[in-house]
This record gives sequence, C-alpha cells and structure tokens, in this order.
Amino acid sequence: MATTKYSRQRELIYNTVIENQVHPTAEFVYKYLKKDNPQLSLGTVYRNLQQLSDNGAINRVSIPNQPDRFDGVIKPHYHAVCSKCGKIEDIFIEEMESIDSLVAEKTGLNIIGHEIVFKTICPLCKN
Ligand SMILES: [Zn+2]
Ligand SMILES: [Zn+2]
Repeated sequence: MATTKYSRQRELIYNTVIENQVHPTAEFVYKYLKKDNPQLSLGTVYRNLQQLSDNGAINRVSIPNQPDRFDGVIKPHYHAVCSKCGKIEDIFIEEMESIDSLVAEKTGLNIIGHEIVFKTICPLCKN
C-alpha cells in the first residue's frame, strides 16, 4: 500500500530530525537513512521535511548562505551559528520571546514575526 509506505517514510524522516540534534539538512537526513532504505529518494526527503514543517511537527531554520536546516525542538528558541564550521547551537532566552511586542510598541508597526541568527565561533574552532 502506497499510503503505508509514505507514512512510514515520513516517520523515519521525522525520527531522524528528532534524534539528530545537529539541525540536519535535507541532505543529511537523506544520507543518514539511505543506507537502510535504498529506495528512498532525495525528493521524498525534501517533500516530507516540507510537510512536517508546514504542519508544525518540526521547525525549518533558515541560515543565511546555508541550505535550510530542520529542528525537532518545537519550543521557541534562537540559534547561534559558528562562522567557521557551521555548527548550530540552541539558545533559550525567555526575555526575547516578547521582542515582537516590544518592537510593535516602539514603532507602531504590525509585527508578525522575526528571524534572528546569532554568529559565534564555537569552542572547538576557537582552539
Ligand atoms: Zn565551529
Ligand atoms: Zn534549534
């Protein structure tokens, strides 16, 4: 049954994002699953990641000059990216969650969201 196959693949892809807390790219997910699932195509991985992020099961993380990453952590948080190796670190700062209303208050603009990525040099690259 096609339906069963598709939902099984989606589950595999979802679990890969949850288990690999590196904020994997579609490419990473594909390579990770390909060895045990030779029939899997990169297109299927892209499509399922798209659907999973559309329905809020995972988050899509846009990093400038990098392919999109995917994140199994749904709780609101920010990211710091190492400028040397590209490693992504999760940042949880509750005060920043009110940034939209702060900007709305200061500017009178109708703020619908924001994207912030912090740049860093990770401890490994620093040494
Ligand atoms: Zn680094
Ligand atoms: Zn994250």
